[in-house]
Amino acid sequence: MKTIGIIGGGQLGLMIAEQAAVLGHRSICLDPSADAPAFRVCDEHIVAAFDDATALEELCRRSDVVTYEFENVPGEVIIPLTEKYNIPQGYRPLYDSQDRVREKRNAAANGLRVPRFADVLGEESLRRGIAEVGYPCVFKTRTLGYDGHGQVVLRGEEDIAKTQPYWQTPAILEQFVPFDYEASIVMVCDGERIIHFPVGQNIHRDGILDLSIVPAPRMSDAVRNEMVRSSEEFMRRCGYTGILAIEYFVRGDEIYFNEMAPRPHNSGHYTIEGCDTNQFRELCRYLTGEELHEPHLVAPTVMKNILGEDLAEAERIAVETGGGTDSRSSRPEPGTYVHIYGKSVSKPKRKMGHITYVGMDMAEYDRLWRDRFVK
Ligand code: AMP
Repeated sequence: MKTIGIIGGGQLGLMIAEQAAVLGHRSICLDPSADAPAFRVCDEHIVAAFDDATALEELCRRSDVVTYEFENVPGEVIIPLTEKYNIPQGYRPLYDSQDRVREKRNAAANGLRVPRFADVLGEESLRRGIAEVGYPCVFKTRTLGYDGHGQVVLRGEEDIAKTQPYWQTPAILEQFVPFDYEASIVMVCDGERIIHFPVGQNIHRDGILDLSIVPAPRMSDAVRNEMVRSSEEFMRRCGYTGILAIEYFVRGDEIYFNEMAPRPHNSGHYTIEGCDTNQFRELCRYLTGEELHEPHLVAPTVMKNILGEDLAEAERIAVETGGGTDSRSSRPEPGTYVHIYGKSVSKPKRKMGHITYVGMDMAEYDRLWRDRFVK
């Protein structure tokens, strides 16, 4: 039995802790809020800020191995810890993903196609960036952006003023990719072998993931194979180990890198019941030095994210379907699985849970479930 330390106690930390327990390990979690979701299931916890070096050191001291579910741990805090303690993913994948310009340069340098982009700061450089990238384009803050926060789509001159609140903030301007659909892949590498979970098609609403559909209905085998091949090659070239999720835009036969995360990913939540092993469990196997298991899809699966506005309906569905909120089942089978994260404050657009429908395709989801949720 090992103790896995987790930096971050949100829903990802919760599900890592659940799978650590399935494999017979302990977990200890650090998060700034005293009622973080993961604290309900981990064995020990520490309430502290992500830049509290003393508290992070305490977490490392009490753990055999440490991982992160929070991507913005400052380098100056985590680098000294990686030198002293067992944090096998290290700082490098965090460094490469914490800044959108650095992230895109790194992706391009390691074999992935990226949308045209320019780094911008203030109005003048924004106008130069527009001349380079062209309309339509997307303005995003370079750091701390997620789920569409700090993003503005520019279709013409008249939209420039909308970026004004961010003129003091380093930003990226990206070509707007008129994609056919979005897709993502989650991989785990133990240093030699890479396993990947089946590629899903993702539908976002207001910049936030709404649905993941697996297998990706619109994806040809050729595109899927290319996505797997180039993602694995990217991971090897970067020398990353542990877990890595990559989000892509797909247009015809072309796949464009959008962003990556060196942690379990929202689009991989379907793996808990939709596959015979899941992203959280394989991360724990990597962390504890156990052999990785190659995942297989149990049946076509749809994952619906539950934001605050749909929480009450999701709770009703849990009662109706008997779909418990326990992610720990080790024998998945077709059915409806409701996960409620137990966050104390529910707000519109806040991720409060998800529902996984195993043995369901998009047409059936549309017919049976779509109308139950806020449009
Ligand atoms: P991000 O936070 O960068 O993943 O952006 C959130 C969502 O906004 C994406 O999943 C897309 O749906 C959309 N989006 C972001 N960047 C672009 C782009 N360059 N072209 C088209 N759509 C985009």
